[in-house]
Amino acid sequence: MKKELDTRGLDFPTRCVHSGVYKDEVYNSVVTPIYPSSTFYFEGPGQTSGYDYTRTRNPTRVALEENLASLEGGAGCTATSTGMSAISSVLHLLPENAHIIAGHEIYGGTFRLFNDIMPKRALKVSQVDMRDIDAVRNAIRPETKAIWIETPSNPLLNLTDVEAVCRLAQEHGLLSIADNTFLTPFLQRPLELGADLVVHSTTKYLNGHSDVVGGAVIAATDELAEQVAAICNALGTTCSPYDAWLVLRGVKTLSLRMAAHEQNGMALARFLDQRPEVERVYYPGLESHPDHALACRQQSGFGGMLSFDMHGGEEKAQAFIAGLRLYSFAESLGGVESLIEHPASMSHAAMTPEGQAAAGIGPGTIRVSAGIEASHDLIADMEQAFTALD
Ligand SMILES: *Cc1c(COP(=O)(O)O)cnc(C)c1O
Repeated sequence: MKKELDTRGLDFPTRCVHSGVYKDEVYNSVVTPIYPSSTFYFEGPGQTSGYDYTRTRNPTRVALEENLASLEGGAGCTATSTGMSAISSVLHLLPENAHIIAGHEIYGGTFRLFNDIMPKRALKVSQVDMRDIDAVRNAIRPETKAIWIETPSNPLLNLTDVEAVCRLAQEHGLLSIADNTFLTPFLQRPLELGADLVVHSTTKYLNGHSDVVGGAVIAATDELAEQVAAICNALGTTCSPYDAWLVLRGVKTLSLRMAAHEQNGMALARFLDQRPEVERVYYPGLESHPDHALACRQQSGFGGMLSFDMHGGEEKAQAFIAGLRLYSFAESLGGVESLIEHPASMSHAAMTPEGQAAAGIGPGTIRVSAGIEASHDLIADMEQAFTALD
């Protein structure tokens, strides 16, 4: 019976399409049904179908969770309502007064959570240059419990050596948690590099169509997976069956989309690298990127995110963005449509100007999420916007 389909051993694109999908035992639906039922009846005392209440467990959500656990190579997954709820949930694994180490340059919402919200819950964060393993080691204190990895970083695409940081974490008995939103398991699998947990904003590439917000936590071991599931159930951070269904639909084309995003990322990086208006391009696929060798080693591609600094600061950057027709001027990333944004005033506005400067985010920094449109159309639109600046 199809429901029994064991996708272990099948290749990544096959698992995107088939893992977890077959949940309909009555009509043999090829697509996972949406089970909106908030509750499930008992056939007798203690006799359930494996489901009792949707916050705890829901067949549509379980389908997505099995799929994502398979793609990341994890023991289990909990799908959450947003990426931030996934991140908030995993922080509840840590004891009171815990200290965690993170990079300087992390997702703006994670920065806000770490700096504004968690300190009120006695959780302290040190932000260091994650490219410098000695800096990470020196930040470890007796109360340190976890290391937070976000690679490539946002928005400047600096890389962290996941294997080296996870080894350090292991030596000191710390949890290693990796936000794998930017690359997805198609291009990078942190659990295989030694991480204990992976978090995602499924809002981005995993869903890929800019029509849902969601998140996920994937754990390396059954024990951690059970702890995370229990926390998400207790906090109420799990996602709705409708959202789970949309993400599961999106993830089926992940391999195809990521290949297209990557092709456009590279094409745009090479184009921008030659423009006189551009001071610097940040894309790990360029040979000139300081972490290019590491990218080749720990990733199986460079992804669709890139940033660049424009000469002339914010004024020129905003004028360039205003001249574009094809790119939406919007936060977020990872959808089929190309987006462009200004980190200093948008995605990273939660950071102080000093914090932005320390991380290297300048007034002329622009971030691009390359969609899956034709490369030459994306380049032509930038070309006309540069020309219009003169
Ligand atoms: C978007 C994003 C998040 C937060 O996800 P939401 O779904 O917006 O809550 C976390 N980490 C990274 C790297 C992201 O890009």
